[in-house]
Amino acid sequence: MGMKMVGAYLDDRQLPPRLGVPEVAFLGRSNVGKSSLLNRLTASAVQSSTKARVGKTPGATASVNLYSLYNRKEKDLLGFVDLPGFGFAKLSKDTKAAVEAAAENYLGKRKELMLGILLVDIRRIPSEDDRAVLAALFDMGVPIAVVATKTDKISSLNEREKQLLEINQQLGLPEGQPLCVSSVTGEGIRDLWRIVLEACEA
Ligand code: GDP
Repeated sequence: MGMKMVGAYLDDRQLPPRLGVPEVAFLGRSNVGKSSLLNRLTASAVQSSTKARVGKTPGATASVNLYSLYNRKEKDLLGFVDLPGFGFAKLSKDTKAAVEAAAENYLGKRKELMLGILLVDIRRIPSEDDRAVLAALFDMGVPIAVVATKTDKISSLNEREKQLLEINQQLGLPEGQPLCVSSVTGEGIRDLWRIVLEACEA
């Protein structure tokens, strides 16, 4: 399997081209570990030099980025959509509005969208933005999975349980969510793949 970037879009009138395959969207505030998770998720399945951009400064992803996972015959199999992070500190008001419009436009209109994955940092209390994103996905009828990122950063089991419970309650999640993932240790990556594939087969 390979992965290629189809393109980056930051215009609310222009959606990425249709590949005719199911798509999965990744959302979360900037610096939550979205690019790292995308890279880790695809690293096992994909032989390719294409990588989602991992930023040192928050806000590296400021456009709707579409990646295609394709087979040996270069047939598209699955689309991964890296949506712009929210909670940017450094963007101007106008840029922020454009970024939000592009993401909303994609989420609201994309028939291929099978699953929205919201990333939250396991060490943080979910923000108002996180809750708003969940509510928007719910309203649009998009199936949702929530993952807690950077779980390798917490070594105490008690602390981990406490944070998971906090996130679960703050976001009103079903039991068993969020799923714990780490792009460093690979925790949860197989489970996340299973969730992705189940959503796309449904
Ligand atoms: P994005 O802005 O959401 O795309 O976040 P990035 O993937 O660029 O990651 C932001 C920062 O967090 C980078 O310095 C990453 O190296 C770090 N990071 C991302 N995922 C993990 C993780 O699972 N564990 C640890 N320890 N650090 C991570």
